[in-house]
Formats: sequence, structure tokens, C-alpha cells
Amino acid sequence: MNLNTAKKWMNDFFESLIENKDYLSDLDNPIGDGDHGINMARGGEAVKEVFNTKDIETLNDLFKTIAMTLLSKVGGASGPLYGSVFLAFAKTSLDKTEISDDDIVILFEEGLKALKNRGKASVGEKTMVDVWDPFVEALKTKKPTLEMVDTLVEATKPLKATKGRAAYLGDRSIGHIDPGSMSSGYLFKAYLRSAS
Ligand code: ADP
Ligand code: MG
Repeated sequence: MNLNTAKKWMNDFFESLIENKDYLSDLDNPIGDGDHGINMARGGEAVKEVFNTKDIETLNDLFKTIAMTLLSKVGGASGPLYGSVFLAFAKTSLDKTEISDDDIVILFEEGLKALKNRGKASVGEKTMVDVWDPFVEALKTKKPTLEMVDTLVEATKPLKATKGRAAYLGDRSIGHIDPGSMSSGYLFKAYLRSAS
């Protein structure tokens, strides 16, 4: 992945967030406070604005700029969580302008570690960790597909939330897709599209 591909990946991700703002908030309505789309789209708009004015010359620069923008502009649980992920991406990619497929696996692994460190959630608690963990495993062993990402997101539906705002609902959190898993699914799908 070179710098241009990574930029394409990120632009595609932020466009998905902006396009699906209402849908992401609708998912957050029954099991949260209905702001996930607002939070993420605000982040997407802010990053787009920064990209218009700043020359990005390395992968580190790209991911760090995104992390800092999300940390300062996105509220809720998701701002600091995605901020940590992109900080980990920045740290892992150093000042390179191109990374190998093996490096990409490490990039995602470090992102997942940062997510778990920050949110202290593990698999099965109905958070974005439930899509991150299997997606990273799939990157290591087989080539993940767009359909696989949809399946992972859908699989958060029957889970009962024990972390985050949805945990307050207990059993009533069952039967709804986790909004953060949907937005993470957009990140993965944008990556798969940029890499093909
Ligand atoms: P808030 O819950 O503060 O309103 P958002 O609505 O923007 O923030 O984000 C909610 C999403 O954040 C959830 O759908 C879930 O995927 C994710 N999330 C919440 N808590 C955690 C956590 N501890 N670890 C990982 N992800 C989490
Ligand atoms: Mg919310």
C-alpha cells in the first residue's frame, strides 16, 4: 500500500461515514443515544477539511493527522476509540510512503491492540472489537471479502452488550446491530476496495 492508496482508503471511509450518517445514528437509537452517525460524520467532515489545507507526505503524517482530528472533533466513546486506532496506525507506519501486505497485517493488529487497550472490551461484548478481532484474523490467514465484513457486522445482532452505553439495556440490547461495528465495517470495506 502506498501513500496514494492509503489516501484513497481514508477518503472512501470518511465518505461512507458522511453518506451513512443517518443510518449510523438510527442504529444507535435503540441501544444508545442516537448520535453515532453525527459523531462519525462530524469527524469525516473535519478530516476532509484538514486534507484540503495540509500537505500529507507520509503514512505516519496521514494517520496522525486523522487521529488528532478525530480526537479533537468526535465526541462520545467512538472519538477516543478511533483516535487510538489511528494513532497506532501512525506509529506502526513510521515515516514510510509504502508498506507491504505483511506490514498491513501488523498495522491492523496494532490498531486492534490500541482499541482493546483503550476500551477494555473483549470479543462477545457487542462492541466494535467483535468485528475487528475476526477481521484481523482473516487478514492473517485468508483474504477477507466485502461479504465477510457484512456477515461480521450482522453477527453483532444477537449479542448482549456488556460494554459501552448499550450495556445499560442488558437483554434489551439483543437483536440490534452494534453501530460502532457498522462504522468499523465501512473502514474494512474501504480498505478492501482500495486494495483491489
Ligand atoms: P457513545 O456510546 O458515547 O454515544 P458512539 O455512539 O459514537 O458513542 O459510539 C458507540 C459505539 O462505540 C458502540 O456501538 C461500540 O461499537 C463502541 N464502543 C463503546 N464502548 C466501547 C468499548 N469499551 N470498546 C470498544 N468499542 C466500544
Ligand atoms: Mg451514541
